Amino acid sequence: MSGVRRPLLLVTCLVVLAGCGTQAAGIPSPAPHSPTTATTSSTASSPASSVPPATSSAPRTTSKKKPPAPPPAASGVVVIDPGHNGGNAANPAAINRQVPAGRGRTKPCNTTGTATDAGFPEHAFTWAVSLRARDILAARGVKVLLTRQNDTGIGPCVDARAAAGNNANADAVVSIHADGATDPSAHGFHVAYSSPPLNAAQGEPSARLARTMRDGLRSAGFPLSTYIGSAGLSPRDDLGGLNLSTRPAVLVECGNMRNAAEAAKFSAGAGQQAYAAAIAAAILAYLR
Ligand code: ZN
Repeated sequence: MSGVRRPLLLVTCLVVLAGCGTQAAGIPSPAPHSPTTATTSSTASSPASSVPPATSSAPRTTSKKKPPAPPPAASGVVVIDPGHNGGNAANPAAINRQVPAGRGRTKPCNTTGTATDAGFPEHAFTWAVSLRARDILAARGVKVLLTRQNDTGIGPCVDARAAAGNNANADAVVSIHADGATDPSAHGFHVAYSSPPLNAAQGEPSARLARTMRDGLRSAGFPLSTYIGSAGLSPRDDLGGLNLSTRPAVLVECGNMRNAAEAAKFSAGAGQQAYAAAIAAAILAYLR
């Protein structure tokens, strides 16, 4: 499974589970914690240009007598990790090299991810959702860093993706993926978190972030996974990005790209925006 682009993209999530669950990396230089700065780290063209301003319901005022009401939705630093990358499939040697994955194990640097039956790749979906979620959060006063800065590069490796959240001292780290279950009837999202925890952040904070994410996606109308985990949650000990995180971290598998209904959502801007809005709202709820 190398050189050829398409077949690699069609790798099912049996493989993806080994790598789909990988967190990624490469944040340039983590900026200091700045609760009130709405900064983004990506300058790439964003498909979220049509995102409605999230501040529309939270008008700001410069009046000293009347502080903004409602107050900023949340503050903090969030690292969003868009799964995989567009250059992975064409560079198997680079992404297959073994890197530390926590618990004394190693794993491939990164994987290609999966794709819909029509060929829409997971890396493009995770990139689109990540940019849209970033824009929503930034408009609410959250500083957002991405683990990769475009959708054409290679990697980053799972250990570097974890390091991005760690180095940024992130209040929350959210990896975004979509699954590739071979059963086309399998559908629904699940949220993975490291278990058993290897540090304090992987304990209650990560479990709470996972529950908050699960509740947010469910309340937004997304169905719980029919094929992985329990009640939308999946404790895992084999995901390198989560194992290596020293910050509260979860991995969201938004659904099954081989399921026709979910594939349609993943491939359309409106569907991507719906996932992004639910994920961003859950992050805001967690930060509060
Ligand atoms: Zn994935």
